[in-house]
Amino acid sequence: MPMTVAAFGAVSASDPLVPMTIERRDPGPRDVRIKIRYAGICHSDIHTVREEWRPITFPQVVGHEIVGEVEAVGSEVTRHRVGDRVGVGCLVNSCRECEPCRAGLEQYCTGGGVGTYASVDRDGTITQGGYSTHIVVDEHFVLRLPEAIPYERAAPLLCAGITPYSPLRHWKIGPGSKVAVVGMGGLGHMGVKFAAALGAEVTVLSHTLSKREDGLAFGAQEYAATSDPETFTRFRGHFDFMLSTISTGFDLDAYLSLLGLGGTLVSIGMPPEPLSVRAGSLSRWKSFASSGIGGIPETQEMLDFCAEHGIAPEVELIAAEQINEAYERVVASDVRYRFVIDVATL
Ligand SMILES: [Zn+2]
Ligand SMILES: [Zn+2]
Repeated sequence: MPMTVAAFGAVSASDPLVPMTIERRDPGPRDVRIKIRYAGICHSDIHTVREEWRPITFPQVVGHEIVGEVEAVGSEVTRHRVGDRVGVGCLVNSCRECEPCRAGLEQYCTGGGVGTYASVDRDGTITQGGYSTHIVVDEHFVLRLPEAIPYERAAPLLCAGITPYSPLRHWKIGPGSKVAVVGMGGLGHMGVKFAAALGAEVTVLSHTLSKREDGLAFGAQEYAATSDPETFTRFRGHFDFMLSTISTGFDLDAYLSLLGLGGTLVSIGMPPEPLSVRAGSLSRWKSFASSGIGGIPETQEMLDFCAEHGIAPEVELIAAEQINEAYERVVASDVRYRFVIDVATL
């Protein structure tokens, strides 16, 4: 018998989110049923329910930053036991057979990765996300959540954590790296913490200096305002690596001028409009790239790294009834630094 569970979701692209119920399947042999404790609010949730990216099927429950405890397991589950602290991020399924899947890069599955919400699962149903009391997920996509990470702060790691972590690891950031983190929101503040913990020299480039104290407390050595033209003179040719979280159009040529020889600018923000670049801005072996979340093994590595280094996101805990208000504040960039829903309030 499928389980009917409490949730908070969207009935249309324009109405506020409302309390509702959804069905969760019985755990199959390899499934884990999780009692969700906390769910983070990601800007992607808002883009999705407002159909700003593509049309979706309603009703839709979103949320892909999920932590909780294992409540039931299928007969063939080996990785998780009842009572374990676990997390689920942006992916709940993939083909398991393509080259990226076999390399643990499920986020780049070429055979059809399945997002945690608003995606067609491999059984044909539409996936429903974490603003709900329970979720049933194949054990392969369930992460172990180390005890050292406080429950109520852990959820954002599953998207806002892994998204900056993956490119920092891919480009082998470490001691001696001169890193700029552009933007100090949910992704950016974690980018600063990770880059600093990896041993890099970190500079935050933010529109204003309003979050300077926080940036320095998170491990940055320098904090400069991009609204000040002097910043682009001062750091010209300075950085080995830049992690941009900017989610609207920006002057790519101006930012590329801050890279030194062979430097790379990686965008983890996803501006909807095309960016233009002059080829000359990429001379001196500079690169412009993009990166999306991370695979399951790397997400586990990131969680273990957080436990080892005492890293956790800064969060504002909210009750379910505050979700709509929180959405307005996310859109206005008025959150330090991630909203997390206490799912017990559903
Ligand atoms: Zn997200
Ligand atoms: Zn695949």
